[in-house]
Amino acid sequence: MFELDSVTKHYGDSHAVGPIDLSIAPGGVTALIGPSGCGKSTLLKLMIGLIEPDSGLVSFDAAWVTHAGIEDMRQRMGYVIQDGGLFPHLTARRNIALMARYLGQAQGDIDARLKTLCDMTHFPADGLDRYPGELSGGQRQRVALMRALMLEPDVLLLDEPLGALDPIIRYGLQEELRALFRSLKKTVVLVTHDIGEAGFFADDIVLMNEGRIAQQGSLRDLVERPASDFVTSFVAAERTVGAALGESTA
Ligand code: ADP
Ligand code: MG
Repeated sequence: MFELDSVTKHYGDSHAVGPIDLSIAPGGVTALIGPSGCGKSTLLKLMIGLIEPDSGLVSFDAAWVTHAGIEDMRQRMGYVIQDGGLFPHLTARRNIALMARYLGQAQGDIDARLKTLCDMTHFPADGLDRYPGELSGGQRQRVALMRALMLEPDVLLLDEPLGALDPIIRYGLQEELRALFRSLKKTVVLVTHDIGEAGFFADDIVLMNEGRIAQQGSLRDLVERPASDFVTSFVAAERTVGAALGESTA
């Protein structure tokens, strides 16, 4: 679904990612993990064409991600930015329906889709007319997710969607999200800095370090066949890995 070929990106003089070669298959869940600042968000933005690489090529569904074709392409990608990125002055309903309205979809279709999405994400319908500041953290994440799903995208890209939630809410939402991903059967790319969470969601894990891919594989590959000392120490630093490994083989 995504192919990155020798992609590099700098911000000014500072190296953010690359060179990176990466292939993401359709229909599965891929987790991008790594320490803070290793380039996870940058990689996601390159994949959606929000930023352009300095060199190398990014393609989506066998077409180059270029600024000429990006508008159409982006409607096929649902994106949840780090921290949700909801507009505080718009109600949940307006946040979710923003693009659909911009595209001139009929109100009846929008309302029907909103109902489906509320059911799908277990969001209370009476919360739709609240502003983000009037919702809990977990509810805001559901709204961000509904917004990403509104146009029925082929792929879903989520940047640390559960990062800001407290552990109990996070645990519940992990279960729900995994069930949702399985039922949607879409290509999902999920950023997390937690290897346990990565293993819980994804069969394919891309571990990054300092802008480059340290290893791509299953959680078991990373644990049992680490490609470098970095992978070993990243895995060793995670206390949740045993539990996650149990989950992934269950
Ligand atoms: P991650 O999501 O893994 O924490 P990022 O992709 O956000 O990492 O950042 C990768 C590197 O690029 C970091 O060193 C970060 O400081 C830098 N960076 C990210 N965005 C910008 C920006 N807009 N301007 C300058 N530097 C940036
Ligand atoms: Mg980030």
